Amino acid sequence: MWISPRAVSFTIVCNACAQEVASDGYGAATVHGFLPLDTQRGSVECSRGHHLRVERDGR
Ligand SMILES: [Zn+2]
Repeated sequence: MWISPRAVSFTIVCNACAQEVASDGYGAATVHGFLPLDTQRGSVECSRGHHLRVERDGR
């Protein structure tokens, strides 16, 4: 998952959840995360426990 070079907080879609949501027909697959400006990459955990790696775009 790529986020904006200047983003501190972001919302991304968890692909694993998106597939579950598609089969369940309800729920949300979006994940809110935070990444300090001086951090190039990190990871967030979605509400269903999937680990998503995030990296800053650019540079
Ligand atoms: Zn998920």
